[in-house]
Amino acid sequence: MRDVKPRVQPAIQPVPDRLRNFDEVIQGYVLEDAVEEARRCILCKNARCQAVCPLGNRIPQWIAELQQGRIEDAYRIIRETSPMPELCSRLCPQERLCEGACALGIKHEAVAIGLLERFVCDQSRARTNGGEPQPSTTPTTGSKRVAAIGSGPASLAFAQAMARAGHRVTVFERWPKLGGVLRWIPRFKLPPDLLDAHLAMLTRLGIKFYANTEVCWIESLLTDEGFEGVFIGIGASRPSTPQLPGASLKGICSSTEFLVRTFYGREELPNDWEPIADLIGQRVVVLGGGDSAMDCVRTALRLNAAAVTCAYRRDEANMPGSNKEVQAAKEEGANLQWLTAPVAFQSDDGRSVSQVECVRMALGPPDASGRRSPKPMPNSAFRIDADLVVLAFGYEVESVFDNEHFFLMAPPKGTVRADPNTGATPLRGVFAGGDCVTGPNLVCAAARAGLSAAQHMLRYFAGEPWEALTAAPVVASQA
Ligand SMILES: Cc1cc2nc3c(=O)[nH]c(=O)nc-3n(C[C@H](O)[C@H](O)[C@H](O)COP(=O)(O)OP(=O)(O)OC[C@H]3O[C@@H](n4cnc5c(N)ncnc54)[C@H](O)[C@@H]3O)c2cc1C
Repeated sequence: MRDVKPRVQPAIQPVPDRLRNFDEVIQGYVLEDAVEEARRCILCKNARCQAVCPLGNRIPQWIAELQQGRIEDAYRIIRETSPMPELCSRLCPQERLCEGACALGIKHEAVAIGLLERFVCDQSRARTNGGEPQPSTTPTTGSKRVAAIGSGPASLAFAQAMARAGHRVTVFERWPKLGGVLRWIPRFKLPPDLLDAHLAMLTRLGIKFYANTEVCWIESLLTDEGFEGVFIGIGASRPSTPQLPGASLKGICSSTEFLVRTFYGREELPNDWEPIADLIGQRVVVLGGGDSAMDCVRTALRLNAAAVTCAYRRDEANMPGSNKEVQAAKEEGANLQWLTAPVAFQSDDGRSVSQVECVRMALGPPDASGRRSPKPMPNSAFRIDADLVVLAFGYEVESVFDNEHFFLMAPPKGTVRADPNTGATPLRGVFAGGDCVTGPNLVCAAARAGLSAAQHMLRYFAGEPWEALTAAPVVASQA
């Protein structure tokens, strides 16, 4: 019988310290700890961790290198499948993916795959010294001009793969800062200098970035601008807003607005958004139970709010977000109210929100999402005092291309219509991927979609008929 050691714990900021800064909470492993943790891995032949990884990372192979202390070899193997491991290792909900499938985890604690991946990326000289893979020689098809719309992980992965294949890539982003949602994920989860270093690496690969540039007409990219392929990676960034009485009161904002106002400088904000420097004395109520809700809760705690309550309509076991984020929010002092749904917003002065009226919920049988559906309990109404309410009910895709290509958007959710395997849309030469195709998802899934679209765009450039790449009917030109 093999003696299994407990998981090696990383250095972590104590709760009182972390509430005073926005630095990364988990400080990571040192070499000895990383090697010891790596040696807990039993290097399964048919590794389930690898099978469930959206990027197909060859986890046992790189962990075997780390077991011998060979960081650069481990990093090289990780980079063969992952376009942004230094970001994914910090953001993936590993407990639901690789670590959730770890064979060791059946009887013991799973191997800390996410922390080990992060250690390798942080230590690798190939990453930190800018020695990343350079573009291959000119492709046999000739170097073509391709465009990516949006600069989130889907577009960044697409752009990297196309640039490494020798094509000339331009990325258009409508916000002043690049990175998509990665840019406003709180810095205690993802330090912005890591994202900046990633963008610098892509710039060295030859990718051109244009911020403050919204693309509204795809056809003109293909015809007037001379691009031969386009990738749509516009994400799902329109906040879902509930039609509740009082929703237009002052002091109620979306999770995007809250995070952007906290993490962007005044000069980068839309004119009507004021930066948030602190929340001293304020009672904050966050509504929702996903990763963005927990990000807002934990940000409000660091901004010195007097009280931070999070209300979610299901229970803890049925919430959509990552369990590690919920546990961190609890440790940091959030008041988590499960089985609680808002029904109205109240105001003492008729202008600003002062209370959230809620009802208690009970869980019924599973709904279409597989999670148990909540039902309001009779006579259970109560109020939570609030000076600021943050709505984190999820996101929808914006119908940006409606005027030109209404057929690109698929009802009822308005996601971009694309073949699920290739990313090819009904518009010849145009691919799509990430949250705009699937609806709100994960960074690793968006990166996978960008890589897949790039692989299939290369096949298109090599002469594969468009009809073979898309299950949807092909539309020759403008609608
Ligand atoms: C607050 C928050 C926290 C999250 N935390 C996690 C986490 O911890 N782990 C995880 O795996 N996932 C997390 N997610 C989900 C993850 O961020 C998304 O799944 C991922 O960013 C989707 O990538 P994307 O490239 O498809 O789109 P996005 O990241 O949304 O990027 C799309 C970009 O396109 C731009 N754009 C849109 N329209 C146009 C246009 N017409 N012209 C030019 N640019 C345009 C947008 O401005 C945006 O920058 C979180 C999401 C949110 C909102």
